[in-house]
Amino acid sequence: MPTLFEKIIAGELPATIVYRDPRVIAFLDIRPAAPVHILIVPNKVIPTTDDIQDDDASLIGHMVIVARDLARQQGIAKSGYRLVINCNPDSGQEVYHLHLHLLGGRPLGPLVQRTERNG
Ligand code: AMP
Repeated sequence: MPTLFEKIIAGELPATIVYRDPRVIAFLDIRPAAPVHILIVPNKVIPTTDDIQDDDASLIGHMVIVARDLARQQGIAKSGYRLVINCNPDSGQEVYHLHLHLLGGRPLGPLVQRTERNG
């Protein structure tokens, strides 16, 4: 079964696409968690970070470069932003097609909620 993001890449599902090149696509998150919330997604099907191969290193680096450029375009490079990749259930990953969240436009608070057990 293709994931939602494969359908967006194929043009079968609508999305607000903000950037596209032969290796990646970037579109607005449908349920934004911050004023800027963009997903940077490789065209290649890689379900999770655990499925990344050594020869994907340039692709993964490219995703970060695209995020850097989008952050500049969105005017949040200096105020700051967060890049997040969830992997597998404990992270809360919902879509099993690798994606980098670019979040910013407000102070984002702590990285994760602290628990009594782990400080
Ligand atoms: P993750 O929990 O890291 O797998 O993140 C998946 C993200 O995809 C969530 O932030 C969702 O809001 C977002 N999302 C799900 N469906 C769509 C869609 N059709 N278009 C854009 N973003 C989506």
